[in-house]
Amino acid sequence: MTPTPIESGAGVSRSALSIEEGVRRRVLVVGNGMAGARFAEELRQRDPGATRFAITVVGEEPHEAYNRVLLSAVVGGTLTPRETRLKPAGWWTARHIDVLTGVQVTGIEPTARTATLEGGAVPGQVLAWDELVLATGSTPFVPTIAGDTGPESGVVAFRTIDDCGRIAEHVRAARHAVVIGGGLLGIEAARGLLRKGVDVTVVHAAGVPMERQMDADGGAVLTRVLHEIGARLLLGRCVVARHADAGTPTVLLDDGTSLPADLVVVSTGVRPRVDLAQRIGLHVDRGIVVDDRLATSVPHVHAVGECSQHRGVVPGLVQPGWDQARVLADVLSGDDTARYEGTNVLTRLKAHDIDLTSMGRIDVDVHDRDHEVLAFTDPRRGRYAKLVLRNDRLVGAILLGVGDAAGPLTQLYDTAAVVPRDRLTLMLGRAVTRSGGPESVNLAEMPGPTVICRCNTVTKSQIVSAHRDGCTTVEAVAESTRATTGCGTCSSAVEGLCAWLATAEPPQPAARAPQRPAQPRPVSASAEGAA
Ligand SMILES: Cc1cc2nc3c(=O)[nH]c(=O)nc-3n(C[C@H](O)[C@H](O)[C@H](O)COP(=O)(O)OP(=O)(O)OC[C@H]3O[C@@H](n4cnc5c(N)ncnc54)[C@H](O)[C@@H]3O)c2cc1C
Repeated sequence: MTPTPIESGAGVSRSALSIEEGVRRRVLVVGNGMAGARFAEELRQRDPGATRFAITVVGEEPHEAYNRVLLSAVVGGTLTPRETRLKPAGWWTARHIDVLTGVQVTGIEPTARTATLEGGAVPGQVLAWDELVLATGSTPFVPTIAGDTGPESGVVAFRTIDDCGRIAEHVRAARHAVVIGGGLLGIEAARGLLRKGVDVTVVHAAGVPMERQMDADGGAVLTRVLHEIGARLLLGRCVVARHADAGTPTVLLDDGTSLPADLVVVSTGVRPRVDLAQRIGLHVDRGIVVDDRLATSVPHVHAVGECSQHRGVVPGLVQPGWDQARVLADVLSGDDTARYEGTNVLTRLKAHDIDLTSMGRIDVDVHDRDHEVLAFTDPRRGRYAKLVLRNDRLVGAILLGVGDAAGPLTQLYDTAAVVPRDRLTLMLGRAVTRSGGPESVNLAEMPGPTVICRCNTVTKSQIVSAHRDGCTTVEAVAESTRATTGCGTCSSAVEGLCAWLATAEPPQPAARAPQRPAQPRPVSASAEGAA
């Protein structure tokens, strides 16, 4: 059985499997978001017959698990909410994973190992568990704004699929939208709103847009690019009030400026959801503190994703949460060596006409004595590149509008390979081809360990391996390796690899059917490149 006792009801998707109490460990996952759902999937992959673990996922959102990363595309109208679902209908039930949607865990008793639920068929029902996984994510931080700030007055914090619905409702009649916050999500939301034909102003408190991923010079180029695509950017300003009572709704800025604002989208950062953890006395700093085995300060209670804090870092992206999910599934499956040691994150802006990647250390001055900083600025064409080197290795970069150079440079960053002496070649992104030829991405020579899909940490080797297992289309590779199923920015790279493999290694008649998941395995033939 799943955590005991549990009643079926509305919003409960339950497997038909009936297994005796005590035989399986009951794993309760709190949060049906990107990390919680992935953890359940990973654990089930290690126990496909459901003989060792009874898994229940409880999520307060009334939807099946979806890809939050794609929500800006929903705002822009290029994806429907349904298209963001992580798995097709029936997928969880078929794998004997019980999912309770629209149900909140309101209390935990770590000594008795029980959890209290609200919102399901039986209010106040109690579940028993053997292992508890907190994957409660984050909640939007909303600054204090005077006046009319409820969603009904057109002020929406941008975090969930329901927020997209609220934005869509208001955007239909809106002529002017104000996005509060010019970080990654704010810029993506602005891009989505522009696609809807709304006049958009982004109000950002810092002097540089996306200041966590950008320096001042890059920020100036990005500001210009945004102006050129139609977004107005007001930097160093805050919204202090909103008036929606009479005439055109407006927002008031701290310098006294008033802007028309039928719709206000708030994207001013998030805070880890730690309320449950705090109530049961877990060690909480900014997030729920976990060690390298994702254990909290209380036995049998674990945390993954944006609610966690590992080695001082609270993840703000999906890749760390998915890496943690994999490691925790190994830990609970009995792998004594499994450790999470952090994730080398890289940020990409998902706007089709702004090509921006930022990675590693970017806050280094050009005259820094311990680093070498290379920079290229071409504001008229919307291009900016900054490379930060230490001991002849790439340790950070901002790449705006430099197209194909981003791939090879990301590869150098990932592999920590020594960069070529000719720094101009490096800037052009031609550094990692053996031939030094004009192409910036040479698929044959690309090393096997090159990470193609960052969100899922899928390497070129794994894609080559999947191809040899019969996955010859992008869809089959995605099904087998999960590449492209995160933010989707690697889709064209995977497409390129599939096309190249079709020529380099045409499928054999006896090719096996695609399997899930593709296990990384050593590949030594030509298509593997310089692995
Ligand atoms: C618009 C947008 C764009 C983004 N773009 C990117 C991107 O390009 N790249 C990237 O890497 N990341 C991106 N992110 C961030 C990424 O979505 C998050 O890092 C990721 O969703 C974190 O996963 P999580 O499972 O930790 O949290 P969440 O996905 O937030 O899931 C947590 C879930 O737990 C539920 N929950 C909380 N408490 C309880 C409770 N007590 N009982 C039941 N359920 C509970 C919540 O309702 C929520 O559904 C983006 C985020 C947004 C909003």
